Amino acid sequence: MAQLSDDCFAFGGALMRIEDAASLIAARLPVLAGTEWVPLARADGRVAAEDVIAGHDVPPFANSAVDGYAVRYADLEANGETRLPVRGRLPAGAVPDGIDTPGGAVRIFTGAALPPGADTVFMQEDVRRDGDVVLLPQGLKCGANARAAGEDVARGERIIAAGRRLVPQDVALAAATGHAQLPVRTRLRVALFSTGDELAEPGAPLGVGAIHDSNRVMLAALLARLGVEVDDLGILRDEPGALAARLADAARDHDLILTSGGVSTGEEDHVRTAVEAVGQLLFWRLAIKPGRPVAMGLVNGTPFVGLPGNPVAVYVTLLFVVRPLLARLSGASAVPVVPQRVRAAFTYRKKTGRREFVRVTVAPGPDGVMEARNFPREGAGLLTSLTGSDGLAELPDEAVGVAPGDTLAYYPHATLW
Ligand code: AMP
Ligand code: MG
Repeated sequence: MAQLSDDCFAFGGALMRIEDAASLIAARLPVLAGTEWVPLARADGRVAAEDVIAGHDVPPFANSAVDGYAVRYADLEANGETRLPVRGRLPAGAVPDGIDTPGGAVRIFTGAALPPGADTVFMQEDVRRDGDVVLLPQGLKCGANARAAGEDVARGERIIAAGRRLVPQDVALAAATGHAQLPVRTRLRVALFSTGDELAEPGAPLGVGAIHDSNRVMLAALLARLGVEVDDLGILRDEPGALAARLADAARDHDLILTSGGVSTGEEDHVRTAVEAVGQLLFWRLAIKPGRPVAMGLVNGTPFVGLPGNPVAVYVTLLFVVRPLLARLSGASAVPVVPQRVRAAFTYRKKTGRREFVRVTVAPGPDGVMEARNFPREGAGLLTSLTGSDGLAELPDEAVGVAPGDTLAYYPHATLW
């Protein structure tokens, strides 16, 4: 495990903007993931560890884009129909040797290599066949319906840039250009804890004052979608000594430690104290609602993020703080979450100086433009505001509120993870 120095992203400020947190992360933290080779069948969703180069042209040879007749353009009549004898037949995969195209036409099928001398292909629907002769209409352009060697990709071209999170079409391109396996970043190992004396495991009977731990299953599922290996390490009690020991232990064999709860300023918020005992806390107040108390730090050189306890705050800070952090540590290029634009159909007031994320439902308005309405209840503890909304509307730091008709940046849940 790479050991990071304590001052690698020290920050002295009151409320930190989320962009500043993200750029600090990108500037000061190294890539921790290694490299491994995986077969194409397991490459989807992984991060390319190196640039990938085309091993050969695609297509590798000139071929027909249609079922029809291949000819040499120079053999066509300038004015009127052309009659040519049919010489040979080329299905896809056939070797076109020994066929002499000039002066004749070759029956050809989609994907078959053009025979020597051929440069143009008539679609079968456009010609008339008369025994061993084919009648070709006037007006086709030279090169029509023929695909040149290398017209999609030339040998030696970069087909995938290092840092790209691979999508199925990348895997197809890698296969087409001669690759059977790809170099990808190893998955990060993330240690996941919940904190709080009130927490019980899902399904366990609830004593007085207890609630079921819901953050951990949500975080584990979201982290899996972000492509990391999650090590679920359970619930930590609100006891600074034990907390510190478990965090230090987790630091030994993980790339990131993630907790939720216990990072506010209350005297029962012990995560902060625990991290300070075994590492260094680097910033812990973001200009963001919900989610202001986010602790970031290092425990024996391993990055640590302490998310808030309230589930909506957990969701928002995972998206805007942990997602860019994981991208950095895993060597992925930072792909910003790009919002859609929707029209507000509600009124809302907010304080300036912080970014606010409001849960909204979105549906087309009378004129067909997508309109957002805020979820009727706002608390950061309301899980139903996440399950009952379509996404998050982002209100800029300097905004004082929302009025009907305003344009809003909107992040649909469905496109985020
Ligand atoms: P805290 O920051 O620890 O004071 O937690 C803030 C709120 O989030 C409290 O109401 C906690 O009970 C709640 N909370 C903390 N952790 C979890 C969790 N893992 N699952 C559900 N709720 C939680
Ligand atoms: Mg707590």
